[in-house]
Order: sequence, then structure tokens, then C-alpha cells
Amino acid sequence: PYTGPSAEEILAKRKEYLSPSLFHFFSKPLNVVDGKMQYLFDENGRRYLDGFGGIATVCCGHCHPDVVDAIVKQINRIQHSTVLYLNHAIADFAEALVSKMPGNLKVVFFTNSGTEANELAMMIARLYTGCQDIISLRNAYHGNAAATMGATAQSVWKFNVIQSGVHHALNPDPYRGVFGSDGEKYAKDVQDIIDFGTTGHVAGFISEAIQGVGGIIELAPGYLPAAYGSVKKAGGLCISDEVQAGFGRTGNHFWGFETQGVVPDIVTMAKGIGNGIPLGAVVTTPEIAEVLTRRSYFNTFGGNPLCTAAGLAVLKVMEKENLQENALVVGSYLKKRLTELKDKYEIIGDVRGKGLMLGVELVTDRQQKTPAKAETLHVMEQMKELGVLIGKGGFYGNVFRITPPLCFTKEDADFLVDAMDYTISKM
Ligand code: PMP
Repeated sequence: PYTGPSAEEILAKRKEYLSPSLFHFFSKPLNVVDGKMQYLFDENGRRYLDGFGGIATVCCGHCHPDVVDAIVKQINRIQHSTVLYLNHAIADFAEALVSKMPGNLKVVFFTNSGTEANELAMMIARLYTGCQDIISLRNAYHGNAAATMGATAQSVWKFNVIQSGVHHALNPDPYRGVFGSDGEKYAKDVQDIIDFGTTGHVAGFISEAIQGVGGIIELAPGYLPAAYGSVKKAGGLCISDEVQAGFGRTGNHFWGFETQGVVPDIVTMAKGIGNGIPLGAVVTTPEIAEVLTRRSYFNTFGGNPLCTAAGLAVLKVMEKENLQENALVVGSYLKKRLTELKDKYEIIGDVRGKGLMLGVELVTDRQQKTPAKAETLHVMEQMKELGVLIGKGGFYGNVFRITPPLCFTKEDADFLVDAMDYTISKM
């Protein structure tokens, strides 16, 4: 049993000693003291079904024994900087990761986070092309350092960074966007930005295949092939940010970009790939990777033995337990059940996403699509009381984000939907 400080004591310390910018879910925040696969436990031993852990960190389930075992074995042996000396862990994980990649994407740079991965990817694109201009999508989230905050395009996440060379294109959002599901029409805006906002040459284009923070928005079909076409013609590199949509989560494919049938020049990833251990990566072609030899590039911990041992263990668990297939089977079932809820309740305006990356958008008026922000918060709180955790997102804060660990079962899906059904029925 847990004998540590209570939630109230932790909250008091957090208020006194931690940055006031730190926010938490729920009016009475949850003190999670244990995790086991798709479950979290609070200080009283109460169990919660984790419908949001996948996005934070976890791919294979909390404290998956194989991953824990790999981490413990490695930390008992050696943990050090990535650079300077040899260690097999980083090479083994790079080899395994590259085997999951299409085309000539054969070279890996490891980082400690998604932000770092995207910063590096954008810098590589700028070095390779000698251009500064980068196009990203409105409503995107790519990180919180200078370049990535520039590429991020939601006012709530942007401080006064210098927006150097970043252009934000029309978001190909099938639910709220002006062109509905016509991806090619939205992509024309990328061509317009190139024609009217740059010299005609760009460094690159960065996007998620399914926007996570933005509220589980699947880019309209046909968007990426058309946008990539324009960017390539302008000499730019195409970057796919797979921090949320990657690693088998979409079920049908291992990578989010594959759902649109494109092959990027650079792929970035983080979050789930270490199952909770800080780890990010940039994968690109040998030719593009060359640019980093022009200077010394150093990252103390990016790809250290501990984190890459965890990464390799995650890939092995994913194969052993068929987690991508599970994301497809359970995710499709969960989406079907959520769609049935939409038929039952007017307040559900849209159900979307792929595999175990699903979104449910609440609106007070289906015609106007008025965001039901307060109701979203209320349902989240009530579902927590019933023992189910889900996330939220979207610019208006009115989209449930359901991104559980990939070991989620059909029974878990039923429990989650039943809890949502019951909560909405009582509103
Ligand atoms: N890209 C995407 C798509 C993300 O969702 C996030 C984090 N929410 C990041 C990049 C940044 O990752 P990190 O927080 O690990 O820096």
C-alpha cells in the first residue's frame, strides 16, 4: 500500500515550489501512485482505466514487465552520455527503428523529447536547402522551443517567439474547414504561400497526419500528396511529426503518414516510443543527414543506453503482443460504439480518428458547431468519478481525446463508452 503524502499535501507543495504555469486535469487532481498496463491507481488503491496514457507516454501499457526489465538491466550495467563511447543499445535500437521505415529513411538522430526532434528536423531542412521558410498547419502543435513554437499554430501555446520564416497554411480539417473533406483544395493554400509569400523556394513543410493537441483532426484525404507535391517542387523537405500518430497507434499503419500514402524526407517521433522513458528521434535519408557534419552536433543524453534499451524493448513488445493489430481491432470497435453514442446524443457533433487515436467533439448546436466547452470538462470530471480517464484538446477545448495504451481491450472500450453514455444521460 501507498504510504506517501496525500494529494492535498502534494498540491500544496506543488503550488509553493513549482512553476505557476504547471496545470493539471480535474478540479480535484488525481494522485497517481501506481500503474499497471491500461490501469492507474490512486493513493487509496482506487483503479482508473487510462484512456489517455498513450498520448502522454505509454505505448505497451504502464510498467510493462519486459520494458521494466530492459530498463533495470541497463541501468544496473551502465548509463552514460550517448556520445564519445560505443554502446550496443543505441545501435540496436536504431537498426530496429529503421526496419520500420519506408524508402531510404535509414539514418537516426536521437533526442530527449518531441520538441527537440522537431527543432532538429527543421534545422536540418533549413541547412539542407539553404532556405529559411517553413510551412506548417494552423492548429498544429510541434513543441515549445523557439523554432517549434513558431511552427505550432494555436495562440494558447505561443509566447512571443520570433516567428522567423514560418508560414501557417489552411488546416485541412474535414469537420470545421471551409472545403470539407477535399484535401486537394486545402493543399492549394500551400502552393499559394510558396507563390506569394516566399521566393518560390522553401526549406520545408511540417505536419502531423492526425493532429493530437489540435483535437484529433485527421487531415482531409488527398491533402498530404498534394501538399508534398508543391513543397517538393519548391525544393523543400517534407517532415512528418509522428509524435502522437506514429508507432502503430492508427492501427492500419505503423506511421501516420502512411494513412495518406506519402513518404516524407524526415520523420520525427517521441512520447510512446520509450513507453514513458524520455526519448525522441529524427529519421532521415543518408544524403540529408550529411548536413549535420558541417559543424559539431552534440546532445548529451539523446539516445543514451538506458532510453534506447527501453525503446528496443517497446518495439519487441509491440511485435510479440501484436499491438498494432490490437489498435486496429479494438480501436475500430471503440469508434463504432462512440459513433452509436453520437446517434443517441445531439451534443456529440463528431466522432473521428483512427485506431486508438480517437476524438469526440461536443457542440451545443450541431448546425453552428458551437463548442460545448463546459460540458466537455463536466463529462471528463464525471467519468473520472466513474473510474475512467480521458483527455481533452482542440482549440476550443471541446474535444475528448481517447488515446489509451495499445493493450486496451474490447471490455475496456465498453467500460469507457458506458461511462460516457451514463454521464451524458445524466446531464
Ligand atoms: N509534436 C506533437 C505532435 C506533440 O503532440 C508534442 C507534444 N504534445 C510534441 C511534438 C512535443 O513533444 P514534447 O512535449 O516531448 O517536447
